[in-house]
Amino acid sequence: MGLILRVKLNITGIVQGVGFRPFIYRIATKHGLAGYVRNRGDAGVEILLEGSAQSIKNFMLDLTEKKPPLAQIDAVKSTELSGKNQYDKFAIYKSSEEAELSGSIIPPDIAICNECLAELRDTKNLRYEYFFITCTNCGPRFTIIERLPYDRENTTMREFPLCGFCQKEYNDPANRRFHAQTVACPECGPKAYLTTRNGEPIQAKDPVREAGKLLSEGNVLAIKGYGGFHIAASTLKEKPLAALRRTKHRREKPFAIMSKSLDSAKSFAEVSSKEQELLSSPARPIVLLNKSESYNLSPLVAPNLHNVGVMLPYTGLHYMLFDQVDDSAFVMTSANPPNQPIVKDNDEALKTLGSTVDYFLFHNRKIAHRCDDSVMRTHGNRQVFLRRSRGYAPAPIRLKAKSKRCVVGLGGELNNTACVLLEDKAFISQHIGDVENVETRTFLQEATNHLYHLTNCHAETVVCDLHPKFTTTALAKEMAEADGSPLIQVQHHHAHAAALMAEHNLEEAVSIVCDGYGYGTDGEAWGGEILFCTRESAKFKRLGHLEPQPLLGGDVASRFPLRVAVGILAKAGVEVEPWLMQNSAHLPFGETEANLILNQLEKGLGTVETTSCGRVLDAVAAVLGVCFERSYEGEPTMKLESAAVTGKNVLNLKPILHGDTVDTTCMLRSIFENKEKLSTANLAYSAHAYLAKGIASLAVEKALTLGVKAVGFSGGAACNQILAKVTRETVELAGLRFLVHEAVPAGDGGVSFGQAVVGGFSRF
Ligand code: ZN
Ligand code: ZN
Ligand code: FE
Repeated sequence: MGLILRVKLNITGIVQGVGFRPFIYRIATKHGLAGYVRNRGDAGVEILLEGSAQSIKNFMLDLTEKKPPLAQIDAVKSTELSGKNQYDKFAIYKSSEEAELSGSIIPPDIAICNECLAELRDTKNLRYEYFFITCTNCGPRFTIIERLPYDRENTTMREFPLCGFCQKEYNDPANRRFHAQTVACPECGPKAYLTTRNGEPIQAKDPVREAGKLLSEGNVLAIKGYGGFHIAASTLKEKPLAALRRTKHRREKPFAIMSKSLDSAKSFAEVSSKEQELLSSPARPIVLLNKSESYNLSPLVAPNLHNVGVMLPYTGLHYMLFDQVDDSAFVMTSANPPNQPIVKDNDEALKTLGSTVDYFLFHNRKIAHRCDDSVMRTHGNRQVFLRRSRGYAPAPIRLKAKSKRCVVGLGGELNNTACVLLEDKAFISQHIGDVENVETRTFLQEATNHLYHLTNCHAETVVCDLHPKFTTTALAKEMAEADGSPLIQVQHHHAHAAALMAEHNLEEAVSIVCDGYGYGTDGEAWGGEILFCTRESAKFKRLGHLEPQPLLGGDVASRFPLRVAVGILAKAGVEVEPWLMQNSAHLPFGETEANLILNQLEKGLGTVETTSCGRVLDAVAAVLGVCFERSYEGEPTMKLESAAVTGKNVLNLKPILHGDTVDTTCMLRSIFENKEKLSTANLAYSAHAYLAKGIASLAVEKALTLGVKAVGFSGGAACNQILAKVTRETVELAGLRFLVHEAVPAGDGGVSFGQAVVGGFSRF
């Protein structure tokens, strides 16, 4: 035996809640090493090894090559210790509260793994049919943790002391539940139970499968999951869906659905190999799938859209819902009262959802943190985040450069998230929603504080939007004041562009940023922008934009696209009166309102202007009769994209540029003039093609003049498949590199990240 070494390792990354200590135990004993492993209060892991140099070398090799699938090692700090060896064997020690190192994090929630799924179905297994079966490789993490380190007593599993059987597995190094904090069984774990809408218990031997039957029969249920409640219903029956739309005030907004299996999903939707990969990944996001020709679900699931949001079961409970029914899918939409965060507590659910549902399927484990499902779609072989939440948060986005300071970005107003940027890691919170009231503001605050706790850091700089009246701006001011830290305000589209550049580690780029609304540096409403930004500068240059268009009646015009269309068409010299009167029934106050609009038009009253790409698409949607009212965020543009899917660029309009402005008036006039002659699909596609070509060719021109090699596309409109495709073609044809988001949402869920990046990297 050679010289005995003593080495202490501090490992950071995602190393708690992923079966890391059991893994360390196994490889240490395999190589005959003594010492210990323990979790730390900063989400890192500490290891002490005693043994020969060769054994330690072998250990280090296994550490990097054989680590558990969900573990992520960011850094290993190794210190050689002096002194005599003290250990005769290797052991897992009680966690320490020590917390000095930042940057480690606990993992996101993880869908049930195949081994647990097999046990769920194995009649001989003690956890046969146990709806919350989990192991070291699967189960909830982010949503159950209250404080670090990740030990059972620091999670909401604390209330479920292990039974003898579970304890034995927990203590057995050879067992795959060795030190699994969520381990539980029918005997000792959380229980599921059914109640009426008033909370009166319903006796059922098998409450989960009973719930599945109730759904299949046409009842509406609230079902408690990992990160909150879902509202569930049949996807085949009109009655519950119509009732749900009535009580939830969701006339048209698509419902996400959970499909029994991949095969079931293929019975009503087209599934590409990339989509299949996303659907069955451990994160199990909702994926927007094109409805197939054999689509047989109710039209009330996703009305007037070509696609439908589908996810696969991610807990044992979800799988069991489908066991005794023939349904291929159930509606599974987040349960949240209007403009409120997703409901997570049982009493909160009874209070707020009782009038919406017929029954509740509860379980008695508390949810520590709310977390909505993630939503994605694909563009060819690329993944596009529409919402990055469950299954992804709080895992960091790794950057190639290190931030100058620790920063928090509080995002914008709609579809918000928060982001803590620490060195080369950006920790983005779960989906918060629209921060317009006390409840969502509180949720944003809690989520931010939770990120601070989990990352063991506190931002030195607070970043928010430029808008003076956003709730997030007020909150940022309060936070900065309380900490005595600087506050930086970043323009909305600049944040989008910065996010894109950071994802691709670029020093500079020309970015096309298209969306609905952002407060401009001139106080105007922006939303179809070409910006030049550099990593070093807190400022940017606005190189070009879409033509400013009138919003007749201001904000109300973004609810009723007819108003936008009329404003633009009148500008184009179209005699709008007959068309407006013909469609006046689509306005809340009919002809009276139409006359008022004509009056406003004549006098130029109450008109603000916007360069928004979304509003132009809205106008096209109204002209084509595709959508006259935005009853949910993005409705007219989503429906226009659906209308365009089978279309071609038959109009083939050449982009008209006036200096740094892309003309949109002529395009709308052409659409209007051809609406009786050409198909809606072809016109809808032509409008997309015109906008994308117009703004992309102007961006290309600017990039070539500046000598910039990359042109990016960000903002909510970048999620649109047609816009993204045509923009890419235009940019790549010019020999420039085209950038899109893959790690963060192109929409406003990525704004906090962009803000943090500007705050963290620029000089000011
Ligand atoms: Zn498992
Ligand atoms: Zn047990
Ligand atoms: Fe935006």
